[in-house]
Formats: sequence, structure tokens, C-alpha cells
Amino acid sequence: MAIIMDGKALAKKIRQQVKEEVSRLKEKGIFPKLAVIMVGEDPASKVYVRNKSKACNEAGIAYEEFLLDENSSMEELLKVIKELNERKDIHGILLQSPIPKPLDIDTAFETIDFRKDVDGFHPINIGRLALGRQTFISCTPHGVMKLLQEYQIDLKGANVVILGRSNIVGKPLAQCLLNADATVTICHSKTKNVGEITKNADIVISAIGKPKFVTKDMIKENAVVIDVGINRLETGLVGDVDFEELEKKVSYITPVPGGVGPMTIAMLMHNVVIATKNLEEK
Ligand code: NAP
Repeated sequence: MAIIMDGKALAKKIRQQVKEEVSRLKEKGIFPKLAVIMVGEDPASKVYVRNKSKACNEAGIAYEEFLLDENSSMEELLKVIKELNERKDIHGILLQSPIPKPLDIDTAFETIDFRKDVDGFHPINIGRLALGRQTFISCTPHGVMKLLQEYQIDLKGANVVILGRSNIVGKPLAQCLLNADATVTICHSKTKNVGEITKNADIVISAIGKPKFVTKDMIKENAVVIDVGINRLETGLVGDVDFEELEKKVSYITPVPGGVGPMTIAMLMHNVVIATKNLEEK
């Protein structure tokens, strides 16, 4: 039976460390603050935003929400971002995705001051990650890396296959793993024979958003399986991985919920502290 990688417990530990760091900053008269912008009323986004506000509250990080109407123009959105860029009391800015179709999320991300880009989506931060330099790493890939580190999974020379190439998960994760000396393959919707590729992997990380896509015939004995997927079914939340079957075959596996999900928010809190220190402790 596999060891279950407990993201909930690790996230709790990281959030406690963040809380202690925030207290130390407050003693110096520095008050970390996160601004979250949401455009429209996407139900899943509302849940994510509520969780982020709760996490800030627990960590002692101040939090301000900016709710824009779903019919807002690009000008209106950019105006809010630019105002937050200028505000000295705001250290982190997060634009909750998705935003309504006519709006251009890439331009919006690029408008956020890269020093306040706690999501790590600004091209400067992505470029720095690609160069292997210190930067904000987007929260989900960062959370996956922390989990692998916590369970001492050896990445040096490991054959890692990532399913999914999105800008927020697959691509930055591939970069993180490459920086950690893994040999990385990325699969996407046009990849042929995905199951043949995953079969050779020491570590498989799925971030595609398809329930039970990763089955036991796709994974070799004793591999490590990380499930980033979040799929909302009538029966509740499930990942991309057939957990029940794979738990019996692999060495380590993350559950959904309780695996990567809690790590994402913990790493966001961590990034807010880093942004605050970078801006205030020059
Ligand atoms: P996304 O932007 O929709 O990207 C999905 C990726 O999966 C795409 O690159 C797509 O390929 C690829 N894909 C789709 N079908 C595939 C198939 N049959 N075989 C191989 N690749 C396939 O999604 P995302 O934002 O990265 O999120 C992925 C999943 O992770 C979702 O379930 C999301 O809810 C979850 N997620 C979880 C967290 C967390 O905190 N745990 C955070 C973010 C996202 P193409 O590029 O060719 O279309």
C-alpha cells in the first residue's frame, strides 16, 4: 500500500510558519496585506476567494477584496490593478481566474507589478523561473515541489511525466522539476499514447481535469503519483487519478481532497510574506 502524501498536514505546518513570520514583521511595524480582484461571479472562484481570505485571516495577513461587475471593461480592470500597484500598504495582488471571456487575462497579469505578483504569473517571474533564478513560483507547482521535498522523493535524474501544459500548473511545474535536475516530459491533449509514456515514469503528475483519467495500467509499480486535478462531481470532489486502484500499486500518492489543494493556499500565504519582505526590507 502506498504512503499517502498528506498535503493538509504539510500546509498546516507551512501556514503556522507563515503566521510566526507575520508576527515578527508586525513587531517591526510591517503589516503584510493581500489584495484579491475578482471579476464576475464564477461559483468555484467564489469558494477559492473565500478560502484565501480565511487563510489570510488565520495567518494575520490583512486582506482586501475588489469585486468587479462581470460586464466590467478592460480599462476598469487595469485601473484597479494600477491603483493597487501604487498602494504602499498592498504587498501582494492576486487576480482570480477565470475572468469573463472578452477580457484579456494575459494583459491583466502583465499589468500587475511583478514585485507584487504573488501568483507568479507575470512574464518576468515566469522568465526568472525559466532561468533558474529566485522568483515567485506559482502556488500550485510550488506546493507540489514542497510535497515532494517533504516526503524526500529523489528528483535528481528521476523520470517525471506531467500531464497538462497550462501556464498555471504544467509549464511552471516542468520548469521547477527541471531546476531540481529531474528529466521531464510534458503530455497534453495532442500527445499520442499517453499511457505508454507514463508507464516508464518514476513520478507522474496529473493536472488535466479529467476524473479517473490515470488508471493502474498507465503506471509502473512503486511509482510516485501526484494528483493536481480537481473535478466536481455530484458525488463530491475527485482528482484525475483512480486513487483506489493506484493506492495498491504505487509507493506514494496524493489524495483529493487533502493533497495538492491545501498546499496551493499555503504557498500563496508564503509568497505574500516574501513579497512583503522584498518590498519593505530593502
Ligand atoms: P487547463 O488550463 O484546462 O489545462 C489542462 C491541460 O490538460 C491542458 O494542457 C490540456 O492539453 C491537457 N489535457 C487535456 N486532456 C488531456 C488528455 N486527454 N491527455 C493529456 N493531456 C490532456 O487546466 P489547469 O488550470 O492546468 O488545471 C488542471 C486541473 O488541475 C484542473 O482539474 C484544475 O481544477 C486543477 N487545479 C488544481 C489546483 C490545486 O490547487 N489543486 C490548482 C490549479 C488547477 P492542451 O494544452 O493540449 O489543451
